[in-house]
Amino acid sequence: MADDIDLANDLIDNEVSRALSRLRGQASADSKGSETCLECGDDMPKERQALGFKLCVPCAVESERRRSLFID
Ligand SMILES: [Zn+2]
Repeated sequence: MADDIDLANDLIDNEVSRALSRLRGQASADSKGSETCLECGDDMPKERQALGFKLCVPCAVESERRRSLFID
């Protein structure tokens, strides 16, 4: 039983570190051309860039709002 849990934890660890390194790889590749918001050109927080966002927070909220208007 304990072995199963250890195995599961190892699998999760592997998945997480793979996902993180993939994210970091994308972030470093993307950051060359997308350090600023695509919408307003404001500087993007590094944490947001690392997550792959292309819009700053206000623009993301605005685009979400517009999308929800269209859906409605
Ligand atoms: Zn913006």
